Amino acid sequence: MRLLISNDDGIHARGLRVLVDSVSTLGEVVVVAPDRERSATGHSITVHRPLRAKKTRIPGFEVESWAVDGTPADCVKLAIEDLLADPPDLVLSGINLGPNLGTDVLYSGTVSAAMEGVINGFPAVAVSLASYCYQDFSPAGGFIRKLIPRLAQAGLPRNMLLNVNVPGTERPLGVKITRLGNRRYVNIFEKRTDPRGRIYYWLAGEPLEAEDGEEGGCGTDVDAVKNNYISITPLQLDLTDYASIEKLKFLTDFNPG
Ligand code: MN
Repeated sequence: MRLLISNDDGIHARGLRVLVDSVSTLGEVVVVAPDRERSATGHSITVHRPLRAKKTRIPGFEVESWAVDGTPADCVKLAIEDLLADPPDLVLSGINLGPNLGTDVLYSGTVSAAMEGVINGFPAVAVSLASYCYQDFSPAGGFIRKLIPRLAQAGLPRNMLLNVNVPGTERPLGVKITRLGNRRYVNIFEKRTDPRGRIYYWLAGEPLEAEDGEEGGCGTDVDAVKNNYISITPLQLDLTDYASIEKLKFLTDFNPG
């Protein structure tokens, strides 16, 4: 099995090393990751300057590794297009330090690296440690080591994108298949004054912990993690609101000129 690993915390991140360590016995691993932290860069790509990929070493591992001076999406795109000798069977992204839950998946570089795999026709899994206080990546790594063979055995559909969030606890209570929750923030901007008297803003904010309840027999990723369960949310690239297509037909029955 050929595994392409990327992340958004950068090639030197501890979570990346734990992920490499967790899956290195499952197959052939190649790492292509940003040369520095690129968290919250979403699905941005680099088009206004050249990209450089530098062959590097991850201390303690004998896996082919590349550091790219671009975004997570750049890394996966470049890996698939040029750096990899053979196409991957699976793209893995993580292990991110911090949650990637609910609406935040749209801002997430971790999820975007995985999504870039799916865009190019490869199944992908994004993994995050859903805590900043608890920084032991080993429960998440141990889970991925068991998850990948199970997935492979069941077959890996080309458009499969799983967003995995592991709670910050030594022993998660179990696994829940979830839908994306709502992740709203309060006190989003801090408004401050710089030494020259000018106003600046610092985006931070606290997530508002709201119970979302069950819908379609499925709870949210936010609630699963809050209750110490590992959350697996299947995501899809297609953002089309199919329910509205029929409702909007009235916009097509007049002469647009
Ligand atoms: Mn990150």
